[in-house]
Amino acid sequence: MKLENKKALVTGASRGIGREIALALAREGADVALNYIHSKAAADAVAEEIRAMGRKAFVCQADVSEELPVIDMVAAVIKEFGRIDILVNNAGIDEQFLIWDMPVERWDNMIKVNLRSQFLVTRFVVPHMLKQKSGRIICISSQCAQKGAIELSHYSAAKGGVMSFVKCIARELAPYNILVNCVNPGPTLTEMFNSLTDEWRSMKLAELPIGRFGETYEIAPSVVMLASEPDGNLYVGQILGPNCGDVMY
Ligand code: NAP
Repeated sequence: MKLENKKALVTGASRGIGREIALALAREGADVALNYIHSKAAADAVAEEIRAMGRKAFVCQADVSEELPVIDMVAAVIKEFGRIDILVNNAGIDEQFLIWDMPVERWDNMIKVNLRSQFLVTRFVVPHMLKQKSGRIICISSQCAQKGAIELSHYSAAKGGVMSFVKCIARELAPYNILVNCVNPGPTLTEMFNSLTDEWRSMKLAELPIGRFGETYEIAPSVVMLASEPDGNLYVGQILGPNCGDVMY
């Protein structure tokens, strides 16, 4: 196992991509703190699956876009696990508006939940990683940030902000043995993706070279790789793209 004795915190781990990442980290030996905002029963169910593997799971409710809940959550995880070796900033939302229809309040909320949250959780986890002199931080952005997407300008701008944030803190933190990278999924079958209109999803499907959408279990291995030694040792400020070929670099 690649992550034996490691302690991980995954935000938005109650369902979708975050759930699969949490399970994949646990399968490789990590104990996992599972954050959620509303879905307590779903988060508890993920925790049970992790405990059945013989790992520890700690469920922590917090709105990661708000400072005080994040401070309390990080303190609770440190109290429970003693350290945080791996942080996965995954929690997020989406919704669709054309620019001329977008309420300013929905723009602000998107930036808050999808960008400010990643700053906040990282801001309050990093001091612990600095003390430990080690850490891995994986931020979930999106291929929309690279390619652009109609009706998702607020979402794509927030995710582009995540990519720039990662490149900056990757430079700041690498000298302290804390490696920061991005994973940019393509369209992946989750509740979030299914909330997009049929028209939008059909249009996206037509753009995908592999001719199908991704599954959550096809995203998680990129995160495990970046969190593992030696697999992720040389990745710093990189963008990994499990995106069905939608964006090619
Ligand atoms: P999802 O199925 O809708 O799950 C979202 C998760 O985020 C849930 O666990 C939810 O918790 C949590 N969450 C939302 N707002 C939160 C907040 N303020 N505080 C704490 N937790 C919060 O979404 P997904 O498709 O798995 O997406 C996961 C990540 O991948 C997101 O960052 C998304 O932008 C990114 N992504 C997804 C796709 C895709 O096609 N699915 C593509 C590219 C990137 P509750 O269950 O408690 O509500």
